[in-house]
Amino acid sequence: MNLQVLPKGALVEWIELLSARYRVIGPKRKQEVVQQQPAGDTQQPPREQYIFGELQGAHELELSYPSTILPPKKVFLPQKEELFSFKDNGHQVDLQLDERRTVIFGIHTCDLHAVLLLDQAFSQGAADQHYMARRANTTLVSIECLEPCSENAFCKDMGTWIMPETFDLHLTDLGHEYALEIGSAKGSELLQNLTNIRTATETDYWRFNQVISAKWARFPYRLEADLSELPSLLAISYRSQVWEELGQQCLGCGTCTAVCPTCYCFDVVDEVNFDLTSGKRFRVWDSCQFGQFASVAGGHDFRNSRAARLRHRFYHKFKYQSDSFGLAGCVGCGRCAEACLVNIKPIDVINKLHRKRVAVSGKRQEVMG
Ligand code: SF4
Ligand code: SF4
Repeated sequence: MNLQVLPKGALVEWIELLSARYRVIGPKRKQEVVQQQPAGDTQQPPREQYIFGELQGAHELELSYPSTILPPKKVFLPQKEELFSFKDNGHQVDLQLDERRTVIFGIHTCDLHAVLLLDQAFSQGAADQHYMARRANTTLVSIECLEPCSENAFCKDMGTWIMPETFDLHLTDLGHEYALEIGSAKGSELLQNLTNIRTATETDYWRFNQVISAKWARFPYRLEADLSELPSLLAISYRSQVWEELGQQCLGCGTCTAVCPTCYCFDVVDEVNFDLTSGKRFRVWDSCQFGQFASVAGGHDFRNSRAARLRHRFYHKFKYQSDSFGLAGCVGCGRCAEACLVNIKPIDVINKLHRKRVAVSGKRQEVMG
């Protein structure tokens, strides 16, 4: 491991240097403070919220943020993006590709794992050139989480509480300094012209190891089933009563998929000009939780209940994506649980399915014994 060390005071200079060469995006405070009260609880103080946004200076950067409302996927896959414009009845098409050189600063490791999953989804088969153009021009600066960001996070269970093998540049807070691990040529490029940086000494490596090992005990396991068991747990739970019960609660609002760093379903819409021969084509976020999502020609809807749509979301997260990509489809960030108005939380759902499986296999053993 090649560690570099940067004093925290040098962050201002670093962001200034980067801003001259890149669009720099990072976690910052959302302007207004939003009152978030769990149902029936009047004692909670207002909670500050954070977003990934373009930084106007280092003073806006909040590296010790808990989590952001939306994950960094919004940089690669904006909520509404122009794919191309057309004129002359579609005989002339101008492709829109966003190739701005960008740095995303302060990404938590769960979100970094999520970006790697998006990379798989958008590069396999017919690669998505819009996503790939943004991704190729973006460098990711991740940061080690030293505390769980919320009681809904279960990143340790999902194996995303530590950095993946693939990364550009990774920061670890050592108190007055940051340890920097360089993972790629793109990451190394970000350190050009930085004067305050130095190579780590043996003492720095010792401090670094202390910080990383102290982290272990602070992160609890929250799932009762092991990560490797989740696809088979889902496979035997298809007809579980749990989905019907959750379907009664779910509002079908799609908030959970909007805030999810690994959800990427979209719709494509054309906006045609009054001349009826020219216009633009856009991609907009969609959600498998919306009523019409699975409607097809002939009026058939192959997921025509909220229970079926919710089950599909959980299968996608905990089975289908790992079957397809060999990567967990849920990175345990907890955003969907934080955002859901009716408190549907992955930890509760998975633990409920697991307990039912344990109860059923206990009964079987009793009968056979
Ligand atoms: S699970 Fe919650 S956030 Fe997701 S669609 Fe249902 S009500 Fe909305
Ligand atoms: S399903 Fe929920 S916890 Fe899992 S990655 Fe998506 S938002 Fe995060």
